[in-house]
Parts: sequence; structure tokens; C-alpha cells
Amino acid sequence: MVKVYNYADLSAEEIKSLVQRNVDPANEIRTVVETIIGNVQQHGDRALLEYAHQFDKVVLDKLYLDKAELAEIATALLPEQKAALEVAYQNIYKFHQTQLKAEDKVETMPGVTCWRELRPIEKVGLYIPGGTAVLPSTFLMLGIPARIAGCHELVVCSPPGKNGKVNAFIAYVAQLLNIDRIYLAGGAQAIAAMAYGTESITKVDKIFGPGNQFVTKAKTIIQSTTVTAIDMPAGPSEVLVIADGTANPAYIAADLLAQAEHGIDSQSILVATSAEIVDKAISELERQLAILPRAEIAKQAIANSYAVIVNDLNDAMDFSNIYAPEHLILATDNWQQITDSIINAGSVFLGNQTPESVGDYASGTNHTLPTSSYAKAYSGVSVDSFVKKITFQHLTPEGLQNIGPHVEILADLEGLHAHRNAVSVRMSPLTS
Ligand code: NAD
Repeated sequence: MVKVYNYADLSAEEIKSLVQRNVDPANEIRTVVETIIGNVQQHGDRALLEYAHQFDKVVLDKLYLDKAELAEIATALLPEQKAALEVAYQNIYKFHQTQLKAEDKVETMPGVTCWRELRPIEKVGLYIPGGTAVLPSTFLMLGIPARIAGCHELVVCSPPGKNGKVNAFIAYVAQLLNIDRIYLAGGAQAIAAMAYGTESITKVDKIFGPGNQFVTKAKTIIQSTTVTAIDMPAGPSEVLVIADGTANPAYIAADLLAQAEHGIDSQSILVATSAEIVDKAISELERQLAILPRAEIAKQAIANSYAVIVNDLNDAMDFSNIYAPEHLILATDNWQQITDSIINAGSVFLGNQTPESVGDYASGTNHTLPTSSYAKAYSGVSVDSFVKKITFQHLTPEGLQNIGPHVEILADLEGLHAHRNAVSVRMSPLTS
């Protein structure tokens, strides 16, 4: 069922094609998404209601749930369910709070001082996926750093359930985050609504959140067609597990399946230092898959996955850096030997006792991460994603004397005389 490759036998071209994912070569997804964006731009709320009917199979009488409605829905939770969400909330809060650091002022020359200050992005849009699985964990992962950063307005969209509501977990997280409203919109249409604004949904400055290929494509399109920014392309989930002889095949299989059950377009890659590890992990995987409630989804994702046999952990890391996984699991007791050679990865799970699921929910790190090899250039969501870092500078008269002559020469070099003059006009009273 799982395709197996030998790293040593693969050409550079074969590796390049193996690591490609979600490329949409015929622009099928793009075409669908562009139509949806156009409709939302033109028809606003009406388009959102129609798409809720078409995709989410629900007739909505209004587009949002308010605070009182959310509080009512949240009453369905059991105390232990609330407690689990609260533990996750606290750990995520604790980890992210340390990211909000004031920076030092730097005197680059006597009298010339430069520094950066953080300011929150005013209006942010949070997309909480809800197609095949409802993800209250994503709500925590986006809402907590937004609150820590001090964003003024949080616009939250999530696809409606069949009953035209969100589930009790999402509603309780809304309470924890003090959210006024959740808009019942999913997919590309929700992204378009937050990028352009509709009668009820405010246009935001930046859109956050993972989603399926439609959501991710919409985010990449609106970032080039509006002045709305995005966190990153955070598409269908993926994991790469590096395993050696110290790994437990049952754990490897469980981690691969944890990713595969996300969606049919998810990918789970095993990179192992022997064929024996691969064989054992695959038979475990088949055993565990058979009893998974989401087996149908996981099976399709596994069909889209593969294993690579390598000579040693260094080769494994070479392949991993080319793949640039969203999640990287080092299923080895020897993880300390290779962490320095990690170049491209969204989030890393070290050793045999660290399942990726803990990071998905509650350890504290963020689970909104770059996929499809974007980990080569993007980081996962953090408090940084919700702030701008504005640079400041101040010159004293002495500072102007020190730096002014150099800037005059540099402005001359570029032929920008007004630039020179902005310095000279200030220098002359000081030197006369
Ligand atoms: P989703 O909320 O992303 O998408 C559901 C919406 O997709 C529906 O409401 C509908 O509007 C739209 N849609 C469905 N079929 C469509 C079609 N044929 N044409 C147009 N629109 C359509 O929920 P999901 O589908 O469950 O996907 C969630 C995704 O998020 C998964 O792929 C998962 O792997 C990913 N994820 C990624 C991260 C990350 O950090 N990268 C984290 C969590 C989840």
C-alpha cells in the first residue's frame, strides 16, 4: 500500500518530483476559487449564504452567532472537556507570551539612536477549519497570540455545521478568548469575505489560519489582489518521520496515521535507516488503520504517501531538508546528534516519547504551520505574526554632525540632491 523508495537509487529529478505536493498543475482549484472570490466581491453576504447551502448543506437564516448564542452552545460541554481546553489555553498562552519582547535601543553612532517597537495589527481575520473535522485547537492557536499581541478587532469565520451552528468546543473557546461573534462561513468564500469585506463582515488587514486547498489557494490569491496580508500558505497537513533502530514501529505508525486522518490530501512520509523498520512500521500501520473511525480518509492520504530507506540519519536529514516538512518527528533516541542539521521544518518533535499530537493541541507551540515545502522560507504562526515592528530613530545635534557628512556623500553618489539638502539645510546652522 505504501510506496517504498531507496534514497541512494533516486536521481535529483526523482527527488524533486517526490517532494512536490499540492501543485494544482491544471489550475483546477484556482479556477473554482477565483469564481468564488468574484461572487463574494459582487454579492457579499448573499454569496456566503448560498455557498453555505451549496458546500456545507445548510440553510442559514443569519450569518453569525453572537456572544449569548455561543455561551448557550458551550453549556453542552462536560467539565472535563472544559478543563482540557483550559489546559491547552494556559500552555499555549504561557509559551506565546514570552514572544512579546521589547527590543533594546541601539546607539549606532554617538547621538544617533535606532530602535524597533511593536504595534498590533488592528484588524485580523481568523479562519477556523471545519470541513471534515472541526478544529477548536486552531481557534486557540490563532486567538491566543492575537489577544497577546493586542489586536483590536478579531473577525472569526468557520464553516457552519449541519445544524447551522458551530460545535460546543468552538463556542467555549470563543468564551475563553472573549470573542463577540463567529461568522458561519467556510472555504474560499470566508477568505474572500475577510479580504474584501461584506455587509456584515469587516475587511481585515491580515488573514490567519490553515485550511484545505480551496482555503489556501484563496489566501494566496487575495494576498496579491488586495492589501490584505496572510500568515502563510498553511494547507493540507503533512508529517515526515525520521526513524532508526531505536524507534518503536507502533509509535511510527500512529504518528503517520495521526496526520493521514486530517484529509485525503494530507501526506505522511517515513524516512528510515533500514528496510526492516519500514516493513514493521507498514504492518503496524495496516493494523491500526483498520480500526480507525476515519479510516476512509486516512487510507486515501496514505495512498498519497511513501517511505524512503536511507543509509543513516545524516541522509535522512538531507532528504527531510529537501522535503521541508510542516511537522518533523525524530523517532530516535539519537535525536541530539541531528537537530543541528535541521534546516527546513515547521515544528519538530524530538525522541520517541514526543507525539506530534501534543503540539497539535496543548504543549504550547503553535500548530498553524507552513506546508507544501513553504517551511523553506516561512515560520509557523506566533505573536510576531500579529504585530508590526516599526523602526524609530532620533538624532541629537551631535548625532547630525557625526552622520550628516557621510549621508551627504552617499546622496551625491546616487544623484539625489533633495536627499542631500534635507541633511545640509540642518547642518549649516550647526556648523556656522
Ligand atoms: P476547511 O474548513 O479548510 O474547508 C471546508 C470548506 O471547504 C467548506 O466549508 C467549503 O466551503 C469548502 N469546500 C469543500 N469542498 C469544496 C469544493 N469542491 N469546492 C469549493 N469549496 C469547497 O476544512 P477541511 O476541508 O476539513 O480542511 C482542513 C484542512 O486544514 C486539512 O487539509 C488539514 O490538513 C489542514 N490543517 C492544516 C494545518 C496547518 O497548520 N497547515 C493545521 C490544521 C489543519
